[in-house]
Amino acid sequence: MTNQKEMERYSVITEKNPREIVLLRGSGCRWRRCTFCDYHLDYSRDEKENYHLNRRELAKVTGRYHCLEAINSGSFCDLDERTMTLIEETCLKRDIRQLHFECHWIHRAEIPAVRRRFADRGITVKIKSGIETFDYNFRENILRKGIDEADPARICAPFDEICLLFGLTGQTAASMRRDIETGLALNERVCINIMTENTTAVRPDRDVIAVFARELYPLYIDDPRVDILMENTDFGVGGEQIPAREL
Ligand code: SF4
Repeated sequence: MTNQKEMERYSVITEKNPREIVLLRGSGCRWRRCTFCDYHLDYSRDEKENYHLNRRELAKVTGRYHCLEAINSGSFCDLDERTMTLIEETCLKRDIRQLHFECHWIHRAEIPAVRRRFADRGITVKIKSGIETFDYNFRENILRKGIDEADPARICAPFDEICLLFGLTGQTAASMRRDIETGLALNERVCINIMTENTTAVRPDRDVIAVFARELYPLYIDDPRVDILMENTDFGVGGEQIPAREL
């Protein structure tokens, strides 16, 4: 993508599972059909430019928590090989022992190899996947997520952590709670994203968000296995960079 605004791409998450996080850039999500998503627009076909951007961001990693989340508006397999090598080198140099990547269901067959690759260097890989909801009809016919499997256990089997998407018309307190409990039963961690306005036609439903805030947020906000992002920039990456003079 060209002409994109400079985004914050490095941040530190100090609460729950403390970790550093980098938003890298790859060749682009290969699914790209989710109706609610526009962050797949953060990509470039120019491998060299991606590598330079990724090198700049990875240079900020200090290893303070020995844990790094490397995301890229797609799946780890969209990153170029030089970037993958640099991630590996950064982990070794900064004593990072746990590395989190994102991966879409369609690339699940590539997960064992990436786990082995990093395990050989003493680094444990955790894979997060956007499942959004376990309601097959809602997920596939409305959100067009591209997960051709209905069984939650089979869906979660390749992954360690999942993302859920709430704040959409049709969701209820009961349906959201069911999704969270299913996610927690089948995964180490669950990340809840609340829908925010973006360039797609899918709009956040203020009433559903109010229901979530009132009935579910208090139940899970202190759960160390649950991240809740009321805004999709709550992890500190993906937002617009504030020029130094405005600080
Ligand atoms: S798989 Fe992820 S990046 Fe790709 S379109 Fe869907 S939500 Fe966006």
